Amino acid sequence: MKFFNINYNKEQVSFVEALKKGLGNKQGLFFPCYMPKLQDKDILQLLNLNFVDCSSKILSYFIKDISIDDLTKIIKKCFNFLVPLVLLDNNLACLELYHGPTLAFKDFGARFMAQILQFFYSKDKITILIATSGDTGAAVAHAFYNIPNIEVIILYPKNRIVFLQEQLFCTLGKNITTIAIEGNFDDCQNLVKQAFNDIVLKQELKLNSANSINISRLLAQICYYFEAYKQIPKKYKYKKVIISVPSGNFGNLTAGLMAKTMGLPINYFIAATNANNTIVNYLNNGHWNPKKTITTLSNAMDVSCPNNWPRIMEIFHQNNWDLSMLKSISINDVDTTNAIIYLYQKYKYISEPHTAVSFNALKHHTYNKEIFNIFLGTAHPAKFQKYILKILKQNILLPQILSNCVNKKNKSYILSKNFNTFKKFLQQKYISIN
Ligand SMILES: *Cc1c(COP(=O)(O)O)cnc(C)c1O
Repeated sequence: MKFFNINYNKEQVSFVEALKKGLGNKQGLFFPCYMPKLQDKDILQLLNLNFVDCSSKILSYFIKDISIDDLTKIIKKCFNFLVPLVLLDNNLACLELYHGPTLAFKDFGARFMAQILQFFYSKDKITILIATSGDTGAAVAHAFYNIPNIEVIILYPKNRIVFLQEQLFCTLGKNITTIAIEGNFDDCQNLVKQAFNDIVLKQELKLNSANSINISRLLAQICYYFEAYKQIPKKYKYKKVIISVPSGNFGNLTAGLMAKTMGLPINYFIAATNANNTIVNYLNNGHWNPKKTITTLSNAMDVSCPNNWPRIMEIFHQNNWDLSMLKSISINDVDTTNAIIYLYQKYKYISEPHTAVSFNALKHHTYNKEIFNIFLGTAHPAKFQKYILKILKQNILLPQILSNCVNKKNKSYILSKNFNTFKKFLQQKYISIN
């Protein structure tokens, strides 16, 4: 299986090259040259396997550079937590994707990427450099922690991320270096871009990015859609199933559409966004008009130019699907809060803003008994402990991973947003030690 560059179709690379490169020429995203199409009986077989074996089989359709046994070993290490489909009502359920080590769904992609990179890069030293506003940093830091020969540098805007979130990834140390930049997220992103454009740094540090555009992260996310389907109560299987996906960069939704393309019988998806509604407007009126990013409660979805969108267009194009098949809706902060309250009052279910956006989007589509409705839960409510206490008057016990790091020392460096300062720091820290 080869992967082609969406912006430059002539560039076709193996999985390993796509993994290592991240982006192709002309900033193009990689996408599988063809999508595996499974027969009903193959799907049934997959659904009879446990999560690890099912995931290995799915990934083996795309990744031919590794034996299925090795792939299974890797998956066993990565997906070592539960993915429960929690029933709230007869035909309503939340797929909880937040039981991994950093309590957000980004653990799936980050852990798979770390393990598969290690598998293919066992000898060379490389450096992963990313900018984060929260969840990605935590997931990447934990996924790569203690992996030999891989250094990780994470930039984040100083004083602009939630305390618990910061503790989660800035207290690790060892091969994880965290830097609080005196600026905003865009300043961090700019430093990363400049570093990748700096030939000296790029070569000497062997820079690699681990952001959501890496194809390995997407492929890993296809797997839990099959798991969701597997757990639907029998009487609803093969009737209609719809899934609402809380979306920022649209990686999660891309993976869902890939699962559908492979033959998983999901009738349609709802793209649920917060007030950052570029895609919702585009689907409604055909105009691509990204506005300035707005800060919302569901901060991991504060994105106005979703970087996975070209892949979604590619999927619709390859399948000859009409874009009207994709429902979309933008949910503001007031409705997000109301959804958290509603879920608690009606079902005693505690959620958080990202999950509430996906639930609220479902509610806008009238359900009937024939349809099974799933919304994705992408973050653990404990991450929003203070806010939940305020609106639900409920105190959530911190899961152990959070309570363990609350009192640990923050090991971050603090730097200005000046590129030369950053470059000097990197040269001193990494190049002189070799
Ligand atoms: C990243 C993130 C999202 C958005 O996912 P995309 O793949 O970027 O659309 C939603 N919820 C949470 C909690 C996240 O961390």
